[in-house]
Amino acid sequence: MPTGIALHLVMMGRSGFRIPAYYRTKAWKTLRRAVLARDGGRCRYCGRVARQADHIVPRKRGGPDALENLVACCAPCNKLAGGLVFSSFAAKRSWIRARRAPMRQPKMVKYQG
Ligand SMILES: [Zn+2]
Repeated sequence: MPTGIALHLVMMGRSGFRIPAYYRTKAWKTLRRAVLARDGGRCRYCGRVARQADHIVPRKRGGPDALENLVACCAPCNKLAGGLVFSSFAAKRSWIRARRAPMRQPKMVKYQG
């Protein structure tokens, strides 16, 4: 039963993180899948492969669990902006892009002269 084993491993791997119960519900998984499909499986912030959905207006601030309030997001972008509140999607995207841009360059940069 490869499916059962894979599912078990995922559950084990995540057990150390504190994920709100909502993100384990079927309703959220269905919604996330719809968001990823709409955005072509690409992160709306950086364009990399997305596996998560991010609330534009956080749930804590009353943001609805609706397609209009969700964008496809990759794990690094989600983590980078986690817990921060932005006035708009555009503001959040430019904030993330400003911080992720240097990552495209070689890690070790030696300045000469
Ligand atoms: Zn991203």
